[in-house]
Amino acid sequence: MNIADERFYRAQITQRIDFAPDLWMFRIRSGGEFKFVPGQYATLGVEGNGKRVERPYSIASSPSEDEVEFFFELVPEGALTPLLHKMQPGDQLLMRKVPKGKFSLDLQNGRTNHLLISTVTGVAPFVSFVRTLAKEWKEGRFDGTHRLFLLNGASRPWEFGYLQELNQFDKELPWFKYVPTVSRPWDHEDWPGEIGRADDILRKYADHWELDASNTIAYICGHPEMIEHSKAILKRRGFTDTGSVKEEVYWIPAK
Ligand SMILES: Cc1cc2nc3c(=O)[nH]c(=O)nc-3n(C[C@H](O)[C@H](O)[C@H](O)COP(=O)(O)OP(=O)(O)OC[C@H]3O[C@@H](n4cnc5c(N)ncnc54)[C@H](O)[C@@H]3O)c2cc1C
Repeated sequence: MNIADERFYRAQITQRIDFAPDLWMFRIRSGGEFKFVPGQYATLGVEGNGKRVERPYSIASSPSEDEVEFFFELVPEGALTPLLHKMQPGDQLLMRKVPKGKFSLDLQNGRTNHLLISTVTGVAPFVSFVRTLAKEWKEGRFDGTHRLFLLNGASRPWEFGYLQELNQFDKELPWFKYVPTVSRPWDHEDWPGEIGRADDILRKYADHWELDASNTIAYICGHPEMIEHSKAILKRRGFTDTGSVKEEVYWIPAK
C-alpha cells in the first residue's frame, strides 16, 4: 500500500469464522478512530500489483465494540472477494477511515415498528442494530418502545451466519422477533423453521405481527431481486410515502 495515503487505515484481521465454503466473517482492528452509526458500511480494499480494489461492506458489529465485524459472501468471478477469502488473522487490509451510508434505524419518524428483511449477508446491518439496542436495553438506555422484526432468507440453513446469536436475542429481548427462512429445504429435512424466500413469507408475517404502513418502517437489504419483490408487496400494503421503506442494494443484477 501507499503508506502516505491518509484516507485509509491499514486494518488488521483479528478473527475469521467460516460459516460455509463461500460465507465467512472477519473481525478487524482499524488501528484508529472509526465512528459509525449502526447500518452504515465501511469501504474495504486490497492492493496488489499497483492496483487497489475496493468495495463497500455493511458493518455487523455495534459501535460500542472495539473491533469491526463483517459478513462476506465469496463471488468466485469477483475482483475483491476471492482476495479477501484467502486472508487470515494477522493479515492486513485497507479500510477507508470514513464510514458511509444512510441505512440506519429511524427512531424519530413516529412509527415504532421496524420490519427488517434480508438475504444472507444482508443481515449484517441488522445484526448491528440488534446488538446496539440489546446493549442499550441491558444498560437501561433503551426502553423497548421500538420493536424490531427480522426476516432472514437463505437457500440453505448453513448460510445463516448469525442464526444462534439472533435466536438467542429473540428469546431474551421482548422487543425483537427473528424468523430465518430457507428456500431450498428439500435437502434439509431436519430444518425446523420457515420455508420459502424472505419475500414469500413477508405478507404472512406482516399480517401476523400486525405491521402496516401506519405503524411500521421497512428496511430491505441484500439481493436486488428480493428487494424489488419486497418493495412491490409493501407498496400494495400501503408503504408508499417517503420514509416508509429504506433499502440497501448489494449489487446490480447482470442484464
Ligand atoms: C452498501 C453495500 C453494502 C454491502 N455489504 C456487503 C456485505 O456486508 N457483505 C457482502 O458480501 N457484500 C456486500 N456488498 C457487496 C460488495 O460490495 C461487493 O459487491 C461483493 O462483495 C462482490 O465484490 P467482488 O469484487 O468480489 O465482485 P465484483 O467484481 O464487484 O462483481 C462481479 C459480479 O458479481 C455480481 N455480484 C456482486 N455481489 C454478488 C453476490 N453477493 N451474489 C451474486 N452476484 C454478485 C456483480 O454485480 C458483478 O456482476 C455490499 C454492497 C453495497 C453497495
